[in-house]
Amino acid sequence: MVNQTYQIARKHAQLTNELLSTHKLAPTPVNYSVFFIYIKGSIPVLTQQLESLVQSHQVDDTSINELYELHISQVAQIDKEILSPLSESINLVLSKLEQQVTSEEQAVTNLEKIDKVLAKSKQNSSLQQIVSYVQNTVNGSVTQHKSLSEDLTKTNDEINELKSKLTEAKLQAVSDPLTGFLNRRGGDERLAEINIEDTHTTLIIDIDHFKLINDNFGHPIGDKVIQKVTSLIRDQLSDEDIAVRYGGEEFVVVAVHKALYEAQDIAEKIRLAISQLKLKQRNSDKFLPKISVSIGIAENKNEKHWQDIIERADKALYEAKNSGRNCIKIAA
Ligand code: GH3
Ligand code: MG
Ligand code: MG
Repeated sequence: MVNQTYQIARKHAQLTNELLSTHKLAPTPVNYSVFFIYIKGSIPVLTQQLESLVQSHQVDDTSINELYELHISQVAQIDKEILSPLSESINLVLSKLEQQVTSEEQAVTNLEKIDKVLAKSKQNSSLQQIVSYVQNTVNGSVTQHKSLSEDLTKTNDEINELKSKLTEAKLQAVSDPLTGFLNRRGGDERLAEINIEDTHTTLIIDIDHFKLINDNFGHPIGDKVIQKVTSLIRDQLSDEDIAVRYGGEEFVVVAVHKALYEAQDIAEKIRLAISQLKLKQRNSDKFLPKISVSIGIAENKNEKHWQDIIERADKALYEAKNSGRNCIKIAA
């Protein structure tokens, strides 16, 4: 049973590699995952779409990437569909092998005992030859099993490495490299995980007159300012809160399980900390002009979609901009 599972997984892996080479595709994780799932037939719609790509001679990195994005970009799914079952069956085979090796080693020990007894009696040389033959055979089998076990352990290590690379890739796919905040996609995913019907408060934070920083000091300095601002925002948040880089210099923060008054306190601390920043340009010793942010806040009411709450917060932000900036406005 165990061997069967492992054999099937091996067969799938082999067919996957063959198909990749037929279509002249590199065995990248994306290509490999798409074809492996196709071979397994576990996502019927992917099977259909891939077959029609094959028929119309449209199999290439781009079309395969689209299938991947559409059906299996979720790491959890790759993990569930490919890596975990493979790793599981390898582990089962490994434990079987270990039992096998132990009983074979036991047999070798017993044979050695018999061999010693026979050697003493000096009468049973033909029997001793048989014992020694069996001894050699079992010893050979122990060696073979141990080497198979080593191979499987190595494969399993490779799978685990692939798993952590996938987790890393997933992390990169949902976060913004400049600030470390979630990107919009990551934000959407996290927001989908919390219950919109609980009490939460949403902040939209936008840097005031940011264009002037870029125009007067250049884009790289602008980037540094964004990093400094986001680090001051992060200082006021708890692990539970969600921080998203929503636009270039605009951030959405959801203060999870926090009522309006608590979020207002957080917003005021963020606003104050940023307004007190004193940034100096490193090579010229020139101070940058004062940086400030405007913030719109909205506690969720009975909205069913996060977008509606964010829009309410955005209106409050617009009001804050119109009221002279460097201030906080609460949504109606
Ligand atoms: P307001 O107070 O009304 O928000 O004025 P603003 O100048 O901040 O607003 P506006 O939206 O006109 O300008 C935002 C600027 O942010 C424009 C864009 O060049 C800049 N920006 C967007 N993303 C980045 C980025 O990643 N790095 C840098 N350095 N600048 C960026
Ligand atoms: Mg701005
Ligand atoms: Mg803006």
